[in-house]
Amino acid sequence: MTKLKDWFYNNNSWSHTKYELWHRCKRKFWYQNIAPYLLDPGNLDVGKISMLKSLTPKYALQGRIIHEILEDQMNKHNLGREPDQEAMISQYLKKVQMYENTSRTTIAEFYNGAPDETFFDQIRETGVTQIHTFFSDLWPHIKGNIYIRHETFDKVLVDSTKVLLKVDYISQDPGGILIITDWKTGAEMEDSPINRLQMGVYVLWASEYFQKDPRDIRSELNFLSTGSIHPYLFTETDLDDIWALITDEFRIMNSTYEYEKFPRNPSSNHCIDCAFKAICDQG
Ligand code: SF4
Repeated sequence: MTKLKDWFYNNNSWSHTKYELWHRCKRKFWYQNIAPYLLDPGNLDVGKISMLKSLTPKYALQGRIIHEILEDQMNKHNLGREPDQEAMISQYLKKVQMYENTSRTTIAEFYNGAPDETFFDQIRETGVTQIHTFFSDLWPHIKGNIYIRHETFDKVLVDSTKVLLKVDYISQDPGGILIITDWKTGAEMEDSPINRLQMGVYVLWASEYFQKDPRDIRSELNFLSTGSIHPYLFTETDLDDIWALITDEFRIMNSTYEYEKFPRNPSSNHCIDCAFKAICDQG
């Protein structure tokens, strides 16, 4: 039977990103969440797996950088300074350059031998446009609200399951409604089940943490690609359904840690950007 290090059992948790990965490819889930904690890895090179885990896929890079610099700007906002558009653009371009200089060891597709000559120029252009959109369309929507917190790791217990989350920005509007904001840098899409689950988990946590009725919490997806805002509202029944889904899925995810029970799910959609392609037989 596969045994894992104590750290895993003490810190094992559910998150909407783990849920998404679980449904995309269970083998990738195993490499990402189980392999690094094997008590006896045998011939498996756990050091290499941990290194691969740190690779960023191309599709996630722009979002990662924009979230990092937004976090920095919100830290300053919390200290009473207005977010600075020019500083953000400068920070963004510096970080893109840093990744371009190290792409073969930091970006999954480049590591996997599929470099893309135009990628960094593309994200330079789209990222700067998104920063402009943030300042013209999205920030004005919440900047008058009372700041509550941002980018903090939080957790909520769902029965005995630890659920981890990190909300981008929380504020309170003049009417006392708590506004949970999630910044999305990908393409705007109609309501997707994973987005709804993510926002539902945030509301589940916020209703406990702030002792608020879910009707007094509004969660919003803010799309930096278009400037659109998608609001979500959840009832007690919606949150009960999310509660049940988390407990069921977490039990299934942890019913075994045997490698063979986590099958590959090869697909041209998600293998090319998989950090573990190099060690996955069919990647
Ligand atoms: S390369 Fe494809 S099949 Fe293999 S682990 Fe990654 S996503 Fe799964």
